Amino acid sequence: MTVSVRPTRAGAGRTPGPDREELPVNDTLIRDAELVVTMDGDEIPGGWVALADGTVTGVGRAGDEPTAARTLSARGALVTPGLINTHHHIFQNLTRAYAPATRYELFDWLRTLYPLWTALDEEAVEVSTWVGLAELALGGCTTTADMLHAHPRPRLIDAQIRAARQVGLRFHPARGALDLSERDGGPAPDALVESAEEILGDSERLVAAYHDPAPGSMLRISLAPATQAAVTERLMVETARLAERLDVRLHTHLAEDRGEEQYCLETFGRRPVDQFEHVGWGSERAWVAHLVFSREDERARLARWGTGVAHCPGSTMMLGAGAASLPDLRAAGVTVGLGCDGSASTDHASLWLEARTALAAARERGGAAAATARDILRAATVDAAACLGRGDELGRLRPGAPADVVVWELDRFAFAGAHTDLVEAWLRCGPVRPRHTLVQGRPVVEDGALTLPGTTDMLTVHARISRRIQRLGAGA
Ligand SMILES: [Zn+2]
Repeated sequence: MTVSVRPTRAGAGRTPGPDREELPVNDTLIRDAELVVTMDGDEIPGGWVALADGTVTGVGRAGDEPTAARTLSARGALVTPGLINTHHHIFQNLTRAYAPATRYELFDWLRTLYPLWTALDEEAVEVSTWVGLAELALGGCTTTADMLHAHPRPRLIDAQIRAARQVGLRFHPARGALDLSERDGGPAPDALVESAEEILGDSERLVAAYHDPAPGSMLRISLAPATQAAVTERLMVETARLAERLDVRLHTHLAEDRGEEQYCLETFGRRPVDQFEHVGWGSERAWVAHLVFSREDERARLARWGTGVAHCPGSTMMLGAGAASLPDLRAAGVTVGLGCDGSASTDHASLWLEARTALAAARERGGAAAATARDILRAATVDAAACLGRGDELGRLRPGAPADVVVWELDRFAFAGAHTDLVEAWLRCGPVRPRHTLVQGRPVVEDGALTLPGTTDMLTVHARISRRIQRLGAGA
């Protein structure tokens, strides 16, 4: 099969017509793949994908490749849509695998790290975001959400956006927030807590300054009070109203941990999902991280509302809470997207590794028939796109879609003997890294290496900043 559209190139100065020779109007042709998985109903052995001006122009079988200005080889490789990360806290790579916190469950883990995060400033956030987005691209991610929920200084999300524009990933920053300090019964120190007015005002500023709702958008803002156990009820209510008025999405953590459940019962007299509904968040505008501790009726309500779940099994298992049950969530009709979560709980940011963890966790919960590699790939592409409100355009390779593509290197040793199902092999063999990661048609990773200049310098600066921040813990 071959499906294609004629690429259009505004301002290219050429008018194709029957009486003039066709020049290559595709800028990139990815060809000779072992298998192209479109996530749009086709798996094409020996396939190709053509791109022009940041858009997929066609996919097809060997023998009918179109012309293109340049060719990227996918020989011996698997081609998929770029993976989409629905939940992250990139800034936490500044406190990654921080030894004093590695044996704690969620709220003690947070209390150990919060004092360090009071040192965040624009430089620290810009550098950590640059490094974190580069790491994501090296793991096959082309679009990421990110919740920055510690704001000891203003304009930190602006710094993230500067980094995202340099790296070139499709970026969905969520304006995280804490407005309940330790004095008022919350877990966070005063230095990380803002007033509801400050949070709502800055949220509106960010949306006005940066949010792009257009198809193919490289940047969309969402609003994200951190968790009901760390913010006021009023902030949850007002944020939902603001998101409705600004027509942006809502994000928070929900039912992540037994401590949160206990807090909600004691404080509101309601379980986390009941409180979530009470503050007006039960809608398709919202997607939530985790939902580890949920009852059948709660999952059914999320499905009815259209509220998606960011499934981050690596993080919740590392923090001792266990993984949400992907089979139970899917059986209830909940849309589940994959997420790697923050770099100080999961510690890695490879969506391939998270996908493999999700496959093992699903089978541990539901038995060997509970999930296949294709189920997990769906959570990392099509369903993750739906969680971010972009199910109509991202997560599939089809003509007209944004050109977010990953060519996965299939190591000859790790894949020796894997002949019968390359998608299963992709997730069960490995580890796997991309040969090429393209976002909006632009290679961020090419031949296994970042195309970005200054990588070594950026890592040196990151080391300096992260050591400085971690010394704060040593002095505490
Ligand atoms: Zn999180």
